Amino acid sequence: MPSVKAYGAESATSAIAPLTIERRDPKPHDVQIEILFCGICHSDLHTARNEWGNAVYPCVPGHEIVGRVTAVGDHVKKFKVGDLAGVGCLVDSCRECDNCKDGLEQYCAGGPTFSYGSPERDGSGITHGGYSKSIVSHEDFVLHISDKLPLAATAPLLCAGITTYSPLRHWKVGKGTRVGILGLGGLGHMGVKIAAAMGAEVTMLSHSASKEKDAAKLGAHKFVLTSDAEQVKAVTGYFDFILDTVSAEHDYNFYLALLRTSGVMVCVGVPPTPAVIPAFNVIFGRKSFAGSLIGGLPETQEMLDFCAEHNIVSDIELIRMDEINEAYERMLKGDVRYRFVIDMSTL
Ligand code: NAP
Ligand code: ZN
Ligand code: ZN
Repeated sequence: MPSVKAYGAESATSAIAPLTIERRDPKPHDVQIEILFCGICHSDLHTARNEWGNAVYPCVPGHEIVGRVTAVGDHVKKFKVGDLAGVGCLVDSCRECDNCKDGLEQYCAGGPTFSYGSPERDGSGITHGGYSKSIVSHEDFVLHISDKLPLAATAPLLCAGITTYSPLRHWKVGKGTRVGILGLGGLGHMGVKIAAAMGAEVTMLSHSASKEKDAAKLGAHKFVLTSDAEQVKAVTGYFDFILDTVSAEHDYNFYLALLRTSGVMVCVGVPPTPAVIPAFNVIFGRKSFAGSLIGGLPETQEMLDFCAEHNIVSDIELIRMDEINEAYERMLKGDVRYRFVIDMSTL
Protein backbone atom coordinates (compact mmCIF):
# COMPACT_ATOMS: atom_id res chain seq x y z
CA MET A 1 0.00 0.00 0.00
CA PRO A 2 1.63 3.28 -1.07
CA SER A 3 2.28 5.96 1.55
CA VAL A 4 1.16 9.38 0.41
CA LYS A 5 2.01 12.88 1.65
CA ALA A 6 -0.98 14.74 3.05
CA TYR A 7 -2.10 17.55 5.36
CA GLY A 8 -4.65 17.02 8.10
CA ALA A 9 -5.78 17.61 11.67
CA GLU A 10 -4.84 15.26 14.52
CA SER A 11 -7.56 16.68 16.80
CA ALA A 12 -10.31 19.32 16.91
CA THR A 13 -7.89 21.87 18.33
CA SER A 14 -4.75 21.14 16.34
CA ALA A 15 -3.65 23.06 13.27
CA ILE A 16 -3.72 21.44 9.83
CA ALA A 17 -0.23 19.97 9.53
CA PRO A 18 1.79 17.55 7.37
CA LEU A 19 1.19 13.83 7.85
CA THR A 20 1.41 10.59 5.89
CA ILE A 21 -1.55 8.43 4.88
CA GLU A 22 -1.92 5.07 3.15
CA ARG A 23 -3.77 4.77 -0.16
CA ARG A 24 -4.79 1.36 -1.53
CA ASP A 25 -3.32 -0.04 -4.74
CA PRO A 26 -5.96 0.30 -7.48
CA LYS A 27 -8.48 -2.58 -7.47
CA PRO A 28 -10.00 -3.73 -10.82
CA HIS A 29 -12.59 -0.90 -10.91
CA ASP A 30 -10.39 1.78 -9.32
CA VAL A 31 -8.91 4.94 -10.77
CA GLN A 32 -5.75 6.40 -9.22
CA ILE A 33 -5.47 10.17 -9.56
CA GLU A 34 -2.52 12.49 -8.97
CA ILE A 35 -4.20 15.47 -7.29
CA LEU A 36 -3.23 18.77 -8.93
CA PHE A 37 -5.66 21.14 -7.19
CA CYS A 38 -8.04 20.91 -4.25
CA GLY A 39 -10.60 23.54 -3.23
CA ILE A 40 -11.22 24.52 0.38
CA CYS A 41 -14.85 24.21 1.47
CA HIS A 42 -16.19 25.60 4.74
CA SER A 43 -17.25 22.00 5.50
CA ASP A 44 -13.51 21.15 5.69
CA LEU A 45 -13.16 23.65 8.54
CA HIS A 46 -16.40 22.56 10.30
CA THR A 47 -15.15 18.95 10.17
CA ALA A 48 -11.46 19.47 11.03
CA ARG A 49 -12.57 21.39 14.15
CA ASN A 50 -15.34 18.85 14.89
CA GLU A 51 -18.03 21.56 14.88
CA TRP A 52 -20.66 19.00 13.84
CA GLY A 53 -19.50 16.43 16.40
CA ASN A 54 -18.82 13.67 13.85
CA ALA A 55 -15.11 14.08 13.01
CA VAL A 56 -12.67 11.15 12.97
CA TYR A 57 -8.94 11.78 13.43
CA PRO A 58 -6.54 12.08 11.81
CA CYS A 59 -8.80 14.09 9.51
CA VAL A 60 -7.52 14.83 5.99
CA PRO A 61 -10.15 17.18 4.50
CA GLY A 62 -10.71 18.17 0.88
CA HIS A 63 -13.55 17.19 -1.47
CA GLU A 64 -13.04 19.50 -4.45
CA ILE A 65 -10.41 17.40 -6.15
CA VAL A 66 -9.08 17.59 -9.70
CA GLY A 67 -6.07 15.92 -11.20
CA ARG A 68 -4.75 13.48 -13.75
CA VAL A 69 -5.27 9.72 -13.92
CA THR A 70 -2.01 7.88 -13.18
CA ALA A 71 -3.26 4.25 -13.12
CA VAL A 72 -6.47 2.33 -13.73
CA GLY A 73 -7.64 -1.14 -12.68
CA ASP A 74 -8.11 -3.89 -15.29
CA HIS A 75 -11.90 -3.45 -15.54
CA VAL A 76 -12.01 0.35 -15.71
CA LYS A 77 -13.89 1.49 -18.82
CA LYS A 78 -14.53 5.21 -18.37
CA PHE A 79 -10.97 6.48 -17.78
CA LYS A 80 -7.46 5.95 -19.09
CA VAL A 81 -4.05 7.06 -17.87
CA GLY A 82 -3.50 10.77 -18.64
CA ASP A 83 -7.20 11.79 -18.50
CA LEU A 84 -8.29 14.74 -16.39
CA ALA A 85 -10.51 13.53 -13.56
CA GLY A 86 -12.35 14.85 -10.53
CA VAL A 87 -13.56 13.52 -7.20
CA GLY A 88 -16.16 15.36 -5.15
CA CYS A 89 -17.77 14.66 -1.80
CA LEU A 90 -18.66 11.00 -2.41
CA VAL A 91 -16.42 7.98 -3.03
CA ASP A 92 -18.88 5.11 -2.54
CA SER A 93 -22.44 4.12 -1.62
CA CYS A 94 -24.47 0.88 -1.34
CA ARG A 95 -25.51 1.04 -5.04
CA GLU A 96 -28.61 -1.07 -4.22
CA CYS A 97 -31.11 1.21 -2.49
CA ASP A 98 -33.74 3.21 -4.41
CA ASN A 99 -31.79 6.44 -4.05
CA CYS A 100 -28.56 4.90 -5.37
CA LYS A 101 -30.46 3.37 -8.30
CA ASP A 102 -31.92 6.82 -9.03
CA GLY A 103 -28.48 8.44 -9.08
CA LEU A 104 -29.09 10.13 -5.72
CA GLU A 105 -26.11 8.47 -4.04
CA GLN A 106 -25.84 11.38 -1.58
CA TYR A 107 -29.10 10.14 -0.01
CA CYS A 108 -28.04 6.45 0.04
CA ALA A 109 -30.31 4.68 2.55
CA GLY A 110 -27.35 3.17 4.38
CA GLY A 111 -25.43 6.44 4.25
CA PRO A 112 -22.94 7.25 1.48
CA THR A 113 -19.18 7.03 1.91
CA PHE A 114 -17.91 10.59 2.00
CA SER A 115 -14.49 11.49 0.62
CA TYR A 116 -13.12 12.04 4.10
CA GLY A 117 -13.97 10.84 7.58
CA SER A 118 -16.20 7.93 6.47
CA PRO A 119 -15.58 4.24 7.20
CA GLU A 120 -14.62 2.39 3.98
CA ARG A 121 -17.38 -0.10 3.09
CA ASP A 122 -14.91 -3.02 3.12
CA GLY A 123 -13.79 -2.14 6.65
CA SER A 124 -10.28 -1.22 5.54
CA GLY A 125 -10.16 2.13 7.35
CA ILE A 126 -11.35 5.70 7.21
CA THR A 127 -11.48 7.74 4.00
CA HIS A 128 -9.07 10.63 3.50
CA GLY A 129 -9.71 13.66 1.29
CA GLY A 130 -7.92 15.83 -1.19
CA TYR A 131 -5.32 17.64 0.91
CA SER A 132 -2.97 14.95 -0.37
CA LYS A 133 -0.84 13.98 -3.35
CA SER A 134 -3.14 11.28 -4.74
CA ILE A 135 -6.45 9.49 -4.30
CA VAL A 136 -7.85 6.13 -5.39
CA SER A 137 -11.57 5.80 -6.08
CA HIS A 138 -14.02 3.46 -7.81
CA GLU A 139 -14.56 4.71 -11.39
CA ASP A 140 -18.31 5.18 -10.75
CA PHE A 141 -17.43 8.00 -8.32
CA VAL A 142 -14.91 9.74 -10.59
CA LEU A 143 -15.99 12.62 -12.85
CA HIS A 144 -14.81 13.67 -16.29
CA ILE A 145 -13.32 17.18 -16.29
CA SER A 146 -13.33 19.37 -19.38
CA ASP A 147 -9.94 20.51 -20.68
CA LYS A 148 -11.62 23.70 -21.96
CA LEU A 149 -11.84 25.28 -18.51
CA PRO A 150 -8.92 26.42 -16.29
CA LEU A 151 -8.27 23.40 -14.11
CA ALA A 152 -7.63 25.05 -10.71
CA ALA A 153 -10.83 27.10 -11.00
CA THR A 154 -12.80 23.98 -11.93
CA ALA A 155 -12.01 22.20 -8.64
CA PRO A 156 -14.66 24.08 -6.56
CA LEU A 157 -17.40 22.90 -8.93
CA LEU A 158 -17.05 19.46 -7.30
CA CYS A 159 -18.72 20.71 -4.11
CA ALA A 160 -19.67 24.41 -4.28
CA GLY A 161 -20.88 23.96 -7.87
CA ILE A 162 -23.03 20.87 -7.40
CA THR A 163 -24.39 21.95 -3.99
CA THR A 164 -25.89 25.06 -5.56
CA TYR A 165 -26.77 23.54 -8.96
CA SER A 166 -28.77 20.64 -7.51
CA PRO A 167 -31.41 22.62 -5.55
CA LEU A 168 -31.66 25.24 -8.33
CA ARG A 169 -32.49 22.42 -10.76
CA HIS A 170 -34.72 20.48 -8.36
CA TRP A 171 -36.90 23.53 -7.66
CA LYS A 172 -36.91 24.39 -11.40
CA VAL A 173 -35.33 27.80 -11.13
CA GLY A 174 -35.15 29.57 -14.49
CA LYS A 175 -36.50 32.46 -16.51
CA GLY A 176 -39.09 34.35 -14.47
CA THR A 177 -37.88 33.07 -11.06
CA ARG A 178 -36.85 35.67 -8.49
CA VAL A 179 -33.90 34.08 -6.71
CA GLY A 180 -32.12 35.33 -3.61
CA ILE A 181 -28.67 33.90 -2.89
CA LEU A 182 -27.86 34.38 0.79
CA GLY A 183 -24.14 34.62 1.67
CA LEU A 184 -21.43 35.50 -0.82
CA GLY A 185 -18.75 32.91 -0.15
CA GLY A 186 -17.66 29.79 -2.01
CA LEU A 187 -21.16 28.34 -2.42
CA GLY A 188 -22.86 31.71 -2.79
CA HIS A 189 -20.73 32.92 -5.67
CA MET A 190 -21.32 29.68 -7.58
CA GLY A 191 -25.04 29.99 -6.82
CA VAL A 192 -25.11 33.47 -8.36
CA LYS A 193 -23.30 32.36 -11.52
CA ILE A 194 -25.37 29.22 -12.02
CA ALA A 195 -28.77 30.78 -11.24
CA ALA A 196 -27.98 33.66 -13.63
CA ALA A 197 -26.95 31.16 -16.34
CA MET A 198 -30.27 29.36 -15.81
CA GLY A 199 -32.02 32.63 -16.68
CA ALA A 200 -33.30 33.63 -13.22
CA GLU A 201 -33.40 37.14 -11.79
CA VAL A 202 -30.71 36.94 -9.10
CA THR A 203 -30.41 39.07 -5.97
CA MET A 204 -27.37 38.79 -3.73
CA LEU A 205 -28.28 38.90 -0.03
CA SER A 206 -25.09 39.68 1.87
CA HIS A 207 -24.03 41.11 5.22
CA SER A 208 -20.84 42.50 3.63
CA ALA A 209 -21.26 45.91 1.94
CA SER A 210 -17.77 45.50 0.41
CA LYS A 211 -19.01 42.64 -1.83
CA GLU A 212 -21.63 44.67 -3.75
CA LYS A 213 -19.45 45.37 -6.82
CA ASP A 214 -18.29 41.76 -7.01
CA ALA A 215 -21.87 40.49 -6.83
CA ALA A 216 -22.70 42.43 -9.98
CA LYS A 217 -19.58 41.13 -11.74
CA LEU A 218 -20.58 37.57 -10.84
CA GLY A 219 -23.95 38.10 -12.52
CA ALA A 220 -26.28 39.27 -9.72
CA HIS A 221 -28.92 41.71 -10.95
CA LYS A 222 -29.51 43.25 -7.50
CA PHE A 223 -27.70 43.50 -4.18
CA VAL A 224 -29.33 43.74 -0.76
CA LEU A 225 -27.25 44.54 2.30
CA THR A 226 -29.01 42.45 4.96
CA SER A 227 -28.06 44.83 7.80
CA ASP A 228 -29.84 47.76 6.06
CA ALA A 229 -33.50 47.79 7.15
CA GLU A 230 -34.66 49.90 4.19
CA GLN A 231 -33.05 47.60 1.62
CA VAL A 232 -34.53 44.53 3.35
CA LYS A 233 -37.99 46.11 3.47
CA ALA A 234 -37.89 46.60 -0.29
CA VAL A 235 -37.55 42.82 -0.85
CA THR A 236 -39.94 41.61 1.86
CA GLY A 237 -42.37 39.10 0.29
CA TYR A 238 -40.40 39.28 -2.96
CA PHE A 239 -38.58 36.01 -3.67
CA ASP A 240 -39.78 32.73 -5.20
CA PHE A 241 -36.66 30.96 -4.01
CA ILE A 242 -33.89 31.69 -1.53
CA LEU A 243 -30.71 29.61 -1.35
CA ASP A 244 -29.18 30.00 2.11
CA THR A 245 -25.43 29.30 2.06
CA VAL A 246 -24.52 30.92 5.39
CA SER A 247 -22.05 28.92 7.49
CA ALA A 248 -22.60 30.70 10.83
CA GLU A 249 -25.57 31.03 13.19
CA HIS A 250 -28.28 33.34 11.77
CA ASP A 251 -32.03 33.85 12.04
CA TYR A 252 -33.87 31.84 9.36
CA ASN A 253 -37.12 33.66 10.19
CA PHE A 254 -35.64 36.95 9.04
CA TYR A 255 -35.14 35.49 5.53
CA LEU A 256 -38.40 33.47 5.42
CA ALA A 257 -40.13 36.87 5.57
CA LEU A 258 -38.55 37.73 2.21
CA LEU A 259 -40.42 34.89 0.43
CA ARG A 260 -43.62 35.55 -1.47
CA THR A 261 -46.64 33.21 -1.16
CA SER A 262 -45.61 29.56 -1.83
CA GLY A 263 -41.95 30.58 -1.86
CA VAL A 264 -39.21 28.10 -0.99
CA MET A 265 -36.11 28.67 1.12
CA VAL A 266 -33.48 25.97 0.76
CA CYS A 267 -30.84 25.68 3.35
CA VAL A 268 -27.45 24.35 2.22
CA GLY A 269 -25.25 26.10 4.80
CA VAL A 270 -24.82 24.08 7.97
CA PRO A 271 -24.26 26.30 11.04
CA PRO A 272 -23.14 24.26 14.04
CA THR A 273 -26.11 25.44 16.15
CA PRO A 274 -29.79 24.39 15.70
CA ALA A 275 -32.43 26.95 14.70
CA VAL A 276 -35.96 27.71 15.93
CA ILE A 277 -38.67 28.37 13.31
CA PRO A 278 -42.17 29.17 14.65
CA ALA A 279 -44.80 27.30 12.56
CA PHE A 280 -46.65 30.55 11.77
CA ASN A 281 -43.64 31.75 9.80
CA VAL A 282 -44.27 29.07 7.16
CA ILE A 283 -48.07 28.72 7.60
CA PHE A 284 -48.73 32.31 6.61
CA GLY A 285 -47.84 32.39 2.92
CA ARG A 286 -47.67 28.56 2.55
CA LYS A 287 -43.90 28.77 2.57
CA SER A 288 -41.46 25.87 2.43
CA PHE A 289 -38.24 25.53 4.37
CA ALA A 290 -36.15 22.77 2.81
CA GLY A 291 -32.63 21.40 2.68
CA SER A 292 -30.37 19.91 0.03
CA LEU A 293 -27.17 17.86 0.20
CA ILE A 294 -24.53 18.17 -2.56
CA GLY A 295 -25.72 16.12 -5.58
CA GLY A 296 -25.55 12.59 -6.99
CA LEU A 297 -23.01 11.41 -9.53
CA PRO A 298 -25.13 11.79 -12.70
CA GLU A 299 -26.17 15.30 -11.69
CA THR A 300 -22.58 16.24 -10.80
CA GLN A 301 -21.49 15.26 -14.31
CA GLU A 302 -24.48 17.17 -15.74
CA MET A 303 -23.41 20.27 -13.71
CA LEU A 304 -19.79 19.97 -14.95
CA ASP A 305 -21.03 19.78 -18.54
CA PHE A 306 -23.41 22.74 -17.93
CA CYS A 307 -20.50 24.79 -16.55
CA ALA A 308 -18.25 23.85 -19.48
CA GLU A 309 -21.01 24.89 -21.89
CA HIS A 310 -21.64 28.22 -20.09
CA ASN A 311 -17.97 28.88 -19.36
CA ILE A 312 -18.55 28.87 -15.61
CA VAL A 313 -15.71 28.32 -13.15
CA SER A 314 -15.00 29.51 -9.66
CA ASP A 315 -13.27 32.81 -8.81
CA ILE A 316 -10.31 31.53 -6.87
CA GLU A 317 -7.30 32.50 -4.82
CA LEU A 318 -4.60 29.91 -5.35
CA ILE A 319 -2.62 29.13 -2.19
CA ARG A 320 0.30 26.95 -1.13
CA MET A 321 -0.46 23.92 1.02
CA ASP A 322 1.33 25.47 4.01
CA GLU A 323 -0.99 28.52 3.85
CA ILE A 324 -3.98 26.38 4.81
CA ASN A 325 -4.38 27.54 8.43
CA GLU A 326 -4.30 31.20 7.39
CA ALA A 327 -6.89 30.43 4.70
CA TYR A 328 -9.18 28.88 7.34
CA GLU A 329 -8.93 32.03 9.50
CA ARG A 330 -9.75 34.24 6.53
CA MET A 331 -12.68 32.00 5.57
CA LEU A 332 -14.06 32.39 9.11
CA LYS A 333 -14.05 36.16 8.66
CA GLY A 334 -15.90 35.90 5.32
CA ASP A 335 -12.72 37.11 3.63
CA VAL A 336 -12.67 34.72 0.64
CA ARG A 337 -12.85 36.03 -2.93
CA TYR A 338 -14.42 33.53 -3.50
CA ARG A 339 -12.81 30.13 -3.07
CA PHE A 340 -9.36 29.14 -1.88
CA VAL A 341 -7.78 26.40 -3.99
CA ILE A 342 -4.59 24.61 -2.96
CA ASP A 343 -1.88 24.13 -5.57
CA MET A 344 -0.92 20.55 -4.75
CA SER A 345 2.50 20.88 -6.37
CA THR A 346 3.42 22.84 -3.21
CA LEU A 347 2.90 19.79 -0.98
P1 NAP B 1 -17.84 30.41 2.99
O1 NAP B 1 -17.07 30.53 1.72
O2 NAP B 1 -17.16 30.65 4.28
O3 NAP B 1 -19.13 31.39 2.82
C1 NAP B 1 -20.06 31.58 3.84
C2 NAP B 1 -20.68 32.98 3.69
O4 NAP B 1 -21.71 33.11 4.67
C3 NAP B 1 -19.73 34.13 3.97
O5 NAP B 1 -18.94 34.49 2.88
C4 NAP B 1 -20.69 35.25 4.35
O6 NAP B 1 -21.23 35.88 3.19
C5 NAP B 1 -21.82 34.50 5.03
N1 NAP B 1 -21.70 34.60 6.49
C6 NAP B 1 -20.69 34.18 7.27
N2 NAP B 1 -20.92 34.47 8.56
C7 NAP B 1 -22.12 35.07 8.60
C8 NAP B 1 -22.94 35.58 9.63
N3 NAP B 1 -22.54 35.53 10.91
N4 NAP B 1 -24.13 36.12 9.31
C9 NAP B 1 -24.52 36.18 8.02
N5 NAP B 1 -23.78 35.70 6.99
C10 NAP B 1 -22.61 35.16 7.28
O7 NAP B 1 -18.49 28.95 3.12
P2 NAP B 1 -18.91 27.90 1.96
O8 NAP B 1 -17.77 27.01 1.67
O9 NAP B 1 -19.61 28.62 0.90
O10 NAP B 1 -19.95 26.99 2.78
C11 NAP B 1 -21.15 27.56 3.30
C12 NAP B 1 -21.87 26.57 4.17
O11 NAP B 1 -22.39 25.51 3.35
C13 NAP B 1 -21.00 25.87 5.22
O12 NAP B 1 -21.76 25.74 6.42
C14 NAP B 1 -20.73 24.51 4.60
O13 NAP B 1 -20.45 23.51 5.56
C15 NAP B 1 -22.04 24.26 3.92
N6 NAP B 1 -22.00 23.26 2.83
C16 NAP B 1 -23.10 22.49 2.67
C17 NAP B 1 -23.17 21.60 1.64
C18 NAP B 1 -24.42 20.78 1.42
O14 NAP B 1 -24.37 19.78 0.72
N7 NAP B 1 -25.55 21.18 1.95
C19 NAP B 1 -22.08 21.46 0.75
C20 NAP B 1 -20.99 22.30 0.93
C21 NAP B 1 -20.95 23.20 1.97
P3 NAP B 1 -21.53 37.47 3.18
O15 NAP B 1 -20.26 38.14 3.56
O16 NAP B 1 -21.93 37.72 1.77
O17 NAP B 1 -22.65 37.74 4.13
ZN1 ZN C 1 -17.93 21.10 0.44
ZN1 ZN D 1 -27.66 3.27 -1.45
